[in-house]
Amino acid sequence: MGTLLVKNTAVLVTMDDQRREIEDGGLFIRDNIIEQVGATADLPDTADEVLDLRDHILLPGFINTHHHLYQSLTRVLAQEADLFTWLKTLYPIWGRLTDEGVYVSTITGLAEMALAGCTASSDHLYIFPNDCTLDSQIRAAAEIGIRFHAARGSMSLGESKGGLPPDHVTEDETFILKDSQRLIETYNDNGRHAMTRVVLAPCSPFSVTPDLMRESAVLAREYGVRLHTHLAETIEEEAFCLELFGKRPVEYVRSLGWTGDDVWHAHCVHMSDSEIDLFAATGTGVAHCPSSNMRLASGIAPVVQWRDKGVRVGLGVDGSASNDGGNLLAEARQAMLLQRVAPDRYLSQKPGGRGGFAGIADAMSARQAIELATRGSASVLGRNDIGHLAPGMSADFIAFDLNQIAFAGALHDPVAAVALCQPSRVDLSVVNGKVVVENGRLTTINLRSHLKRHNEISAAMIRDE
Ligand SMILES: [Zn+2]
Repeated sequence: MGTLLVKNTAVLVTMDDQRREIEDGGLFIRDNIIEQVGATADLPDTADEVLDLRDHILLPGFINTHHHLYQSLTRVLAQEADLFTWLKTLYPIWGRLTDEGVYVSTITGLAEMALAGCTASSDHLYIFPNDCTLDSQIRAAAEIGIRFHAARGSMSLGESKGGLPPDHVTEDETFILKDSQRLIETYNDNGRHAMTRVVLAPCSPFSVTPDLMRESAVLAREYGVRLHTHLAETIEEEAFCLELFGKRPVEYVRSLGWTGDDVWHAHCVHMSDSEIDLFAATGTGVAHCPSSNMRLASGIAPVVQWRDKGVRVGLGVDGSASNDGGNLLAEARQAMLLQRVAPDRYLSQKPGGRGGFAGIADAMSARQAIELATRGSASVLGRNDIGHLAPGMSADFIAFDLNQIAFAGALHDPVAAVALCQPSRVDLSVVNGKVVVENGRLTTINLRSHLKRHNEISAAMIRDE
């Protein structure tokens, strides 16, 4: 609590409603909430704490809308596999996950995200073998100090019932719903500036039953919490849904109550025009995860069509076994570049059709990529208190030192440089008014000793294969 003055930035990117970029800008913060945004000369002269950020670019913190932090224990496996092959290879390894593994991998994964500029993240933990709990993950996130939306995932449709995962990694549906309710009542905070929210998130159409999807939606709406799942990720999933449920993935979830402004779906690579219209009309959000879509050869999501039709879109890194990293700025860059190599996706939208490379302007700019990672993601998570810098918003922001090699030769447009140049680690990250990264290092944990334990747990899970 108290006041914090941030001053003298080379440029301050507000991402506010006017998208203002303020040279020699700063912030004045009181009790962890932004009170003033403007030129340094127009701000108070002093405060309880002062950060002088000359030669730095300051931005709203990045927000991650889709992750599986436990997968940072099982990276670079099934290296040349599509989604279903990849999952079938990894399910038995993930079946060895323990509660300590959940805690340790959450610390690791969120540390990685924080160092790369994330000030808020969702995580989708959907496998609970052995003694695993979501409680340990929520505890770990609080220790790292970033805002956390903990999605209580689940799998209940095992192989014996026609699902994809082996039965021994699924859970009983009555227990899933009881545990979901307990977690909401224990941890969820729907208030403004909340640090912890709980989300209900059955894993995917091919790993849970329609009943669990329906019941989860009823429970979530009773408590005003959000709903999240994987959807329309691959052509194989589409074939699975048509065969088992007689519907395409989007139509399937719509019939279960899984559209609306309290729902967001990960991937949505394979959508028809009318399905995109449905998402736009209902306010249903999407977590776009380009690296994972490329790694698993899932396809190129129709981001330009989503944007043009008004679908709410944010960014996600996806799990660390299909990325295999956790850098949301790298993801923003990937999103921007990937749309440019899919000219059919955007040129066909324009009268006259294919117009050559002039059409790049209709794909995605560097500033639009940053917007996806900030305002876009905040909207997808249902937050109007983070994602841009303005009076009344939470004090979540990051800064890059412009005197680093990645930005050399790009200082004529440092804002575009953030997305177009080599993705860097942040030099400073402040979450809820507290410094989480300082001089490029985490202030909240000792990473070196922590990673030793992480790698021991990882080796035990993979070695037993
Ligand atoms: Zn995922």
